[in-house]
Amino acid sequence: MEVIITHINADFDALASMVAAHKLYPEAKLVFPGSQEKSLRDFFVRSTFYILEADRAKDIALERVTKLIIVDTRQRSRIGRFADIVDKPGLEIHIYDHHPASTEDVKGTLEAIEARGATITILLRQLREKGIPLTPDEATIMMLGVYEDTGSLTFSSTTAEEFYAAAYLLAQGASLNIISDMITRELTAEQVFLLNDLISAAERYDIRGVKVAVTTGSSDRYIGDVAIVVHKLKEMENLNCVFALISMEDRIYLIARSRVAEVNVAEVALEFGGGGHPTAASATIRDLTMVEAKEKLLGVLHEVVRPRLLARDIMIHPVKAIQQADTLGAVHKILSRYFTITVLPVLAGEELVGLISRPIVERAMLHGLGDLTVKEYMIADFAVVQADASLREVQGYIVGENQRFLPVVEQGKLIGGITRTDLLRALHDALIPSPLATSTTRKKAVAKLIDERLSAPIVSLLRGLGQVGEELGQPVYAVGGFVRDLILRRENCDIDVVVEGDGINFARVFGARNGCRVKVHKRMKTATLLLANGYKIDVATARMEYYERPAALPTVELSSIKMDLFRRDFTINTLAIELGPGAFGQLLDFFGGQRDLKEGVIRALHNLSFVEDPSRIFRAIRFEQRFGFYIGKHTQGLMKNAIAMGFFERLSGARLFSELELILREKNPLPILERMAEFGLLTVFHPRLVYDTQTKALLARVYEVINWFDLLFLEESYSKWMVYLLGLADCLQLKGLEELAQRLSLPPRYRKRLIEGSREGQKILQRARRKRMSAKEIYTLFKPLPIEALLYIMAKTEEKGVKKAISFFFTQLNTMKVSLRGKDLQGLGIKPGPLYREILDTLLLARLEGAIKTKADEVLYVRAHYIERKPCLSPQGGEDTVPHRCK
Ligand code: ATP
Ligand code: MG
Repeated sequence: MEVIITHINADFDALASMVAAHKLYPEAKLVFPGSQEKSLRDFFVRSTFYILEADRAKDIALERVTKLIIVDTRQRSRIGRFADIVDKPGLEIHIYDHHPASTEDVKGTLEAIEARGATITILLRQLREKGIPLTPDEATIMMLGVYEDTGSLTFSSTTAEEFYAAAYLLAQGASLNIISDMITRELTAEQVFLLNDLISAAERYDIRGVKVAVTTGSSDRYIGDVAIVVHKLKEMENLNCVFALISMEDRIYLIARSRVAEVNVAEVALEFGGGGHPTAASATIRDLTMVEAKEKLLGVLHEVVRPRLLARDIMIHPVKAIQQADTLGAVHKILSRYFTITVLPVLAGEELVGLISRPIVERAMLHGLGDLTVKEYMIADFAVVQADASLREVQGYIVGENQRFLPVVEQGKLIGGITRTDLLRALHDALIPSPLATSTTRKKAVAKLIDERLSAPIVSLLRGLGQVGEELGQPVYAVGGFVRDLILRRENCDIDVVVEGDGINFARVFGARNGCRVKVHKRMKTATLLLANGYKIDVATARMEYYERPAALPTVELSSIKMDLFRRDFTINTLAIELGPGAFGQLLDFFGGQRDLKEGVIRALHNLSFVEDPSRIFRAIRFEQRFGFYIGKHTQGLMKNAIAMGFFERLSGARLFSELELILREKNPLPILERMAEFGLLTVFHPRLVYDTQTKALLARVYEVINWFDLLFLEESYSKWMVYLLGLADCLQLKGLEELAQRLSLPPRYRKRLIEGSREGQKILQRARRKRMSAKEIYTLFKPLPIEALLYIMAKTEEKGVKKAISFFFTQLNTMKVSLRGKDLQGLGIKPGPLYREILDTLLLARLEGAIKTKADEVLYVRAHYIERKPCLSPQGGEDTVPHRCK
């Protein structure tokens, strides 16, 4: 007996060499060396052995082996139990190997041992010399051997022979698609991260019964060879058909693999300007956002996925059948019981021999032929189809040849039947697109996070909202920044909810039940709930009819909440949480918001986003800096375009102002302003605004001054943003300030605070610089300035003395209070009137000077100066008169 063996845990080169050896030694038995089925790759190896009808090593009677052909090894320790016989005298051993020599090598009677990149190269040359042809499958397996052992022809052990071998194998029909799917390489760390993302983002869609997985991933840096990652994904998740959209740098790569006939991935890739094969294809997408690309993909899939129906899929089974020896009378009885049956198959034992139809049976009964057997009246000339016949073939018989009933057979046995109705139904289903592709998005529950992060009253508030929605039959969702911040674990007390139905009515019902005020904005179809405990909930309406179907959201699964979320600014703001009691805490993520939050990237939903609303540009920068995220490359490109096209001119002053205010209200607006300057955006407010080193330094000091001031806990309310605005506008003269106020359509009170704050502030700063001031002077100089302007000049000056004076003003002087009140003055017998103000001011000055310290001092002072007509002590303590004050 001749036996071909290879090493244990055969790799592709071993497998290929065995296939080749078998062609050289057709009489020899192939022996499966044993391997664990760990992966698809091992499965492939194993199934190849199965197809080759390899024997198992343990089934071989070793004593009967006369010739042993060993390929891709010659080490005793690697050939299992065959090592026992390699020293047997008289045993012929042929060795084909490319490994270097070792101490435990088997000695062969014939040895073809060469230092080649792969053993298959050695064997292939012999096959070619002998003119033995290869099938494409054999060529593919051999090519796998060449590729794997030479690292796809890159290892230094690769010889020119491998290149020749590869060229030859390709010419024989080796499939590079299979090869690229099979050759596994180690993944880099980045690839592993990406793989992880692709796995967790994978969604399974059912498109007319065909299961398709769609997944998305992204990386700010370019990752090489993402196809291998997608291949791994397919393998690990056992997907028949997968589409991966991977955004890297400013592009999105579509990589598609399919092993089902219903999905030709090349057709899909073509729609994106790419191409490939029905089983493996790709495209590079340059001009779409991820959300757009995914929606487009779903749309295309809807068009191109056509279920390939087979006879097996549409037949009825089991079918009622009768024996040819049955009488027509008996058959008539069956037909009257099953009145929908018009044709019955006729069997002889198990063999299908004919068909009999209802009209024939009925006519025979009419003529009193009930005792005759079916055999005499059945139709013996009819067509059958195999279970895997195509719909087209079935149609050919039923429509083309007018056969009402088509039996379906498998291995000669009747397994089902197809009627005209079955065919019609199948054709109908294939033609009419199904309305929805249903995805089984992995839903995430965040109920636990809600309980952990939010206070009990808020949680019960959220549940209460869901409850009312449930009763009204209108789903309610928490949306927007609230959800984003929940996931980011950041505080946010602004609750935004969206009601699929009528938000205003919802708010009224909720308000009535919970005793809270409701403010309605009819035009916007929104309402605000003002709760007793001070909370505020904004309620918006999501109703299909309010939305025109956006061009960028062309496809499937349209619900009003999805439409509502699609209209939002960035993916990170598109998350929603269901509040209804049945699904409380389910997170809805239609647009990859979770991933972008995790990655820390701001992405627009579609290309026209910034054209539609240029203020989103400011929002993008604000969120980027607030969260320490970055704006995705593609999104940056969209922003730059919108800026270059001057869309800001369309923004109203009020809108610009509210965006600027939001920016300046952030905890630290400096990096935002810097980034705005990078995008050339400061000039949108005023052409002369710059973020040069001087402004930067000034604003950095404003930041410090504000922090210092806030730590004093003075309970003085002021507008931080105004201090920054004064700092930012420091470079502007009066005219510039007026223009800025104009562009921002500042309300008069802010306009005044900006312009006067800046002008007066600078004037007062000049004065403060001139001399050392007494407490009284400091007080009278700074008191008229609003806090914002004072903080602004404090940041502006670099003179320690002035800074100290302002600090002194805030900490000592401004907080100083007169103890006497109006009623005290009345008690002292002074008539109420403008004099009160004057007295209190004078008292304060006297306190500032240190002349008086206590309430008793104040009383004495008032008595001395305003009641008793006699010389009084001046605050300095010298003898003086204050004629205009004393009566
Ligand atoms: P913040 O924490 O600054 O309040 P936010 O995301 O809550 O951030 P809001 O201005 O309160 O922002 O708006 C609430 C939600 O409304 C946002 O999360 C976003 O989904 C949506 N939104 C706000 N402004 C826009 C816009 N210009 N375009 C589209 N959607 C917007
Ligand atoms: Mg908000």
